[in-house]
Amino acid sequence: MTIAPSLSAFRRIVVKVGSSLLVDQNLGQIKRFWLEALADDIADLHREGRDVLVVSSGSIALGRAMLKLPRGPLKLEDSQAAAAVGQIALASAWAEILSMRGMIAGQILVTLNDTEERRRYLNARATLGRLMDMRAVPVINENDTVATTEIRYGDNDRLAARVASMASADLLVLLSDIDGLYTAPPGEDPDAVLIPVVPRISAEIEAMAGGAASELSRGGMRTKIEAAKIATGGGAHMVIADGRLDHPVRKIADGGRCTWFLTPSNPVTARKKWISGSLEPRGTVHVDLGAARALAKGGSLLPAGVTRVEGAFARGDCVLIRDAAGAEIGRGLVAYDAGEAVQLVGRNSRDIESVLGAPGRAEMIHRDDMALVGE
Ligand code: GLU
Repeated sequence: MTIAPSLSAFRRIVVKVGSSLLVDQNLGQIKRFWLEALADDIADLHREGRDVLVVSSGSIALGRAMLKLPRGPLKLEDSQAAAAVGQIALASAWAEILSMRGMIAGQILVTLNDTEERRRYLNARATLGRLMDMRAVPVINENDTVATTEIRYGDNDRLAARVASMASADLLVLLSDIDGLYTAPPGEDPDAVLIPVVPRISAEIEAMAGGAASELSRGGMRTKIEAAKIATGGGAHMVIADGRLDHPVRKIADGGRCTWFLTPSNPVTARKKWISGSLEPRGTVHVDLGAARALAKGGSLLPAGVTRVEGAFARGDCVLIRDAAGAEIGRGLVAYDAGEAVQLVGRNSRDIESVLGAPGRAEMIHRDDMALVGE
């Protein structure tokens, strides 16, 4: 039998909290004591030096209560309005409760385009990275006020999985109103048993997911399996655990009931594989000997080491990196459009602002966005 990993093995953890856990349906308020206990768990992880990101639902559920909207499905405009009202309350509760434990919260609202379009993906990824460099805790939700039916995730399970791969997290914790994946829906089948570890998402596992979701949260087991596919494909393990308990994360660490979905990979190799394998290069960046050496030692590619660029690439596109002899030494996601990159050839990073007339990133290709040949 495959053994479940220990929580202490992870360095960057995304914790996803569902609406039904966070919002008291009868009172239309945040479940304050519950959130405090979860924040204690987050503080423990943070104190141990791990990066923690929170994906929190609840804006629509809270906003609809505050606006006294009727129960049942909402029209798009009403859910957008509810999200506008609820998100403020949600974010301020997180900010306050994290700050009482010495952590700084940073709100990020994303739409589907921010995670699926490479140019915007690089921006969102860079902001997450900066926040975590500064030890802040990103608190993320979908921007439900502007998301429309065609361009929305709709469920935060998949959103959290995309955030996990975007942030190169190695673990995604989905806190839910169920303690894991069962062989059959437990409400319908008394013989259903919990599966502690899923080493690979097979067709059989998918068939166990069923369909139903609870009233408040959109994601049923179906979206959780979709999330598991995204997360494990991006090099993160995923765990589904019962969030209704106090200190739900601590309970996972103590070996409580839950389901682990294992990744065969890790975030760095998964990302390198994605960059080197699945993207069509749109151009070439030629580098000098010094830059080629710096890259081999694990450095980023700075404009100063670039001798020539070719192609009509846009920021975020994949480009080939060639050495002075013309050999391909790697591939990466370029931080500048071709027109800007041409102007930056051979320039010192300090001059970027004067050359382009606006500040820009110091690297032409950041180390994290690069896969060298043979890596
Ligand atoms: N983004 C939605 C909200 O905050 C929730 C989506 C979900 O329940 O998964 O209200």
